[in-house]
Amino acid sequence: MTDNLDVLIVGAGPTGLTLACDLVRRGLNIRIIDHAETGFPGSRAKGVQPRTLEVFHDLGVLDDLVEHSTTYPLLGLHIGPLTIPWTMMGRHRATEDVPYPNTLLVPQYDTDACLRRRLDALGGHVEYRTRLTSCTDDGTGVTAVIDGPNGPETVHARFLFGADGGSSRVRQQAGIPFVGETDESDKMIVADVLVDGLGPNRWHIWPRNGGRFMALCPLPDGKFQLMLRLKHSESAELEPGAIERLVQQAAENAGLQIRKIYWSSVFRPNVRLAEHYRSGNIFLAGDAAHVHTPAGAQGLNTGVQDAYNLGWKLGQVIAGAPEALLDSYEAERRPVAARVLGLSSALYQGLTDRPLAAAKRGDEERQLLLNYRGGPLAAEPSDRAVQTGDRAPDAKYRDIDGQSGRLFDRFRGPHFTLVAIGDAAIAGAATTDWPAGGASLHTVRIPTSAARGLQRIYGIEGPAQILVRPDGYIAYIATGDWESALKARAHGLAPRITA
Ligand SMILES: Cc1cc2nc3c(=O)[nH]c(=O)nc-3n(C[C@H](O)[C@H](O)[C@H](O)COP(=O)(O)OP(=O)(O)OC[C@H]3O[C@@H](n4cnc5c(N)ncnc54)[C@H](O)[C@@H]3O)c2cc1C
Repeated sequence: MTDNLDVLIVGAGPTGLTLACDLVRRGLNIRIIDHAETGFPGSRAKGVQPRTLEVFHDLGVLDDLVEHSTTYPLLGLHIGPLTIPWTMMGRHRATEDVPYPNTLLVPQYDTDACLRRRLDALGGHVEYRTRLTSCTDDGTGVTAVIDGPNGPETVHARFLFGADGGSSRVRQQAGIPFVGETDESDKMIVADVLVDGLGPNRWHIWPRNGGRFMALCPLPDGKFQLMLRLKHSESAELEPGAIERLVQQAAENAGLQIRKIYWSSVFRPNVRLAEHYRSGNIFLAGDAAHVHTPAGAQGLNTGVQDAYNLGWKLGQVIAGAPEALLDSYEAERRPVAARVLGLSSALYQGLTDRPLAAAKRGDEERQLLLNYRGGPLAAEPSDRAVQTGDRAPDAKYRDIDGQSGRLFDRFRGPHFTLVAIGDAAIAGAATTDWPAGGASLHTVRIPTSAARGLQRIYGIEGPAQILVRPDGYIAYIATGDWESALKARAHGLAPRITA
């Protein structure tokens, strides 16, 4: 029996891999298992949203990801003999506070591979062909039976993280209901194909196609992702000849030729949300906790951000912070998923009802405005532009030593960051007491004379201290009484300070 794990991660999709990267860089003792032979071969989640790009910047994945990406092309709506160009998402210019403003198009096999490469570089690795068969929580930890190439093994871990997808074994073992519905009559063929006769500069869409909907999206490596929603009366056949025939019909004999099919599957829109994200020492995240339609490109992004929200909290509690910190995971993340379920269902319905309106994406999908205001770690409302519980925006700064930089580079890593602006706040930070265990505290000291842009972005005047959580959200903004502000907050976020 292996009995000294901090966390056993079940599932090496984007959710499990994100948590693995975060926990390994925190120095935790983890294993990550997946029952598949190797990484998932399909392109399915191809939209990586701006907020996820910020998470990937922090985890050291972004440069690799950008190399495998493009920005989204214009849509080309094929209506009869006409092809109407249509902008699905406006192009945004990078600004001081939002350095990665545009959704990137990256096939999921590449996003997963980037995360795996990062995990390997950090010293971790995925154990493939290893399945979780059962798990029980005895209140102090979780005993799991896993079955890998060397046969069954019993593992004991302080926490177990279920990132094992929509039909999660972990969720079943924990007895957490998955509330919602599956429409068995609604079917979509999703495939990665090479096509002749189609330009790579448009996301080609054939809307309202006699009850069908078809989209062929060019991927950065020359393939197209086919999404073909069938009529309710049709059965989903995945033989190459059947897919070719359906494509010809949906494209109204526009001369398309499917040259190769790399991967194909049938997708049924499930819309479900786990009743709880935590049962004792077992946690759910990603598709194991919420599933919805692919419209809006939110699933992978929401899973990655679930993991990113929980990673530092697990690290802190293992280091001695109050257990209640872990309850904030469900309180912060479940409402986000509930909202995503509504958003993606409305967009999906629009594909056939209102194709032009449904082919528009706005701020909500980019996930930059997502916040944890009013949650257990951000109870105090204020009338500032940026508040406790909000994403801490990027900003340029010059510190008291004359060093210039970007806040995002100072946030990067597993630590908390205290941004002290102005003489009084800088002096207050000099006497800061922070626990030796768990995530450390880095301080950025900025004189008021060099803080104008930052003050404008954060909506503050005069001296202030901003405590930023390891996941880039604001723990508090103080304008005086520095010591008690930090003490009051650190109490719930970090281990006790021992003399
Ligand atoms: C057609 C389509 C298009 C999509 N487009 C987008 C998009 O543009 N943007 C977006 O954000 N999302 C999109 N999604 C959704 C996205 O693909 C999923 O939300 C995402 O893959 C979820 O990641 P995950 O890591 O939570 O789960 P998964 O990727 O499902 O990974 C779960 C892993 O757990 C493993 N596993 C399962 N059971 C066990 C077990 N008992 N033991 C060990 N391992 C196990 C599996 O092998 C798998 O590798 C799309 C989905 C589809 C189908």
